[in-house]
Amino acid sequence: MAESIIVGINWGDEGKGRMVDLLTEKYDVVCRYQGGGNAGHTVINQYGKFALHLLPSGLFRPGTMNILGNGVAVDLESLWEEMQSVIEQGVDITPENLRISERASLLLPWHRELDSLEEARLKDKKYGSTKQGIAPFYSDKYQKKTILAGELFYPEYLLNHVKDLVEWKNLTITKVYGAEPYTVEQVYGWLMEYGEKLKPFICNTAKYLRDAQAEGKNILFEAQLGSLKDLDFGICPYTTSSNAIAAYAPVGSGLTTAKMDDIIGVVKAYSTAVGEGPFTCEMFGEEAEKLREAGGEYGAKTGRPRRVGPIDLVATRYGVQCQAATNIALTKMDVLSYMDEIPVCTKYIVDGEETDEFPFPVALIDAKPVIEYVPGWKVDISGVRNWEDLPQEARDYVEMIEKAIGCRIGYVSVGPERDSIIIR
Ligand code: GDP
Repeated sequence: MAESIIVGINWGDEGKGRMVDLLTEKYDVVCRYQGGGNAGHTVINQYGKFALHLLPSGLFRPGTMNILGNGVAVDLESLWEEMQSVIEQGVDITPENLRISERASLLLPWHRELDSLEEARLKDKKYGSTKQGIAPFYSDKYQKKTILAGELFYPEYLLNHVKDLVEWKNLTITKVYGAEPYTVEQVYGWLMEYGEKLKPFICNTAKYLRDAQAEGKNILFEAQLGSLKDLDFGICPYTTSSNAIAAYAPVGSGLTTAKMDDIIGVVKAYSTAVGEGPFTCEMFGEEAEKLREAGGEYGAKTGRPRRVGPIDLVATRYGVQCQAATNIALTKMDVLSYMDEIPVCTKYIVDGEETDEFPFPVALIDAKPVIEYVPGWKVDISGVRNWEDLPQEARDYVEMIEKAIGCRIGYVSVGPERDSIIIR
């Protein structure tokens, strides 16, 4: 029996979806445990290309059960739309391969609206939200002002709950932001419309997971975003509003006895980030443009150009520590093949001193990168499948990272397709 987890080590978009898609073969269950539809996991397989937002990446393997745990922000409308678009591409989605925790809280239309209203109020101080309602949703969840998915089975109780919530939420919407109030009919109607469609998928998934564990099934947990976007360990306030780290999986999945034998951290061979906030290793100008183009670094959800930079060994080592990673998948190595020499951020300068410790968020604002260069390999490596067949410079690059971050790199990805992988 194996319980493993795939997490992002950096700012997200490291290629977690691609790794889950590759590894699901070995797992009976894939479970998302935090975050919401603001994720954009890109998966390319025999069915085509998908940008998954809320759906677990195990859907493409027949016989794999996919679970949205209690820690996930479930937006019924966008989940339903995402399901339809995946079904249209020939993938079956039924309660036999997708289940939603009855304890998952529902992200409501006002959460999305509040995200936009607050970003507009912040103006140039905005956090760079994806405007999917994630921050307002988690704030409400911790105030116990959200609806649990399982309440859809109790319409009378739900109606009264909606009445209370509408009255409460309208205070903020109208008095703080001066926007139009919601009506009970509007919110309840929305819940009924999408709730009816999704009710067959909602159940006690914690019990399902406990039974699966007792039967010795293999379970894979799938994180959204990365260490540096984690609410507690990331670059506050430019984080997401949930815990993206592996340690949260036992809570957010509902399987409190989760063992996580293997914590697979995904690291990109260079750095990217979206949104606002310090990004110490950021490159600009032509150098940045070339890397962005080579890596196709545009947001899967928003299409926004991602900020790019060299691999950041300071942030990556910290990310590995936060995740307690036991194995690393280094992705997008093929993207660096055009470079004569490859920049690497080896240290930061903070208050005039060199450091390899990741600083407190406020100290990070003025941190400067120390950039060193290592030789490039200058050949196409996308067809390589064996470690020995990689050019020496590419192997040196992997081993240099491995040494700096203190964790074994067990996978080197050289393309987006399922089989474009070197397993060491
Ligand atoms: P996630 O959110 O961590 O799953 O990452 P994204 O899906 O946002 O970003 C990863 C992107 O890189 C996707 O477009 C993948 O198809 C692509 N990708 C993943 N691994 C590789 C790789 O090794 N090489 C190349 N060229 N692309 C990759």
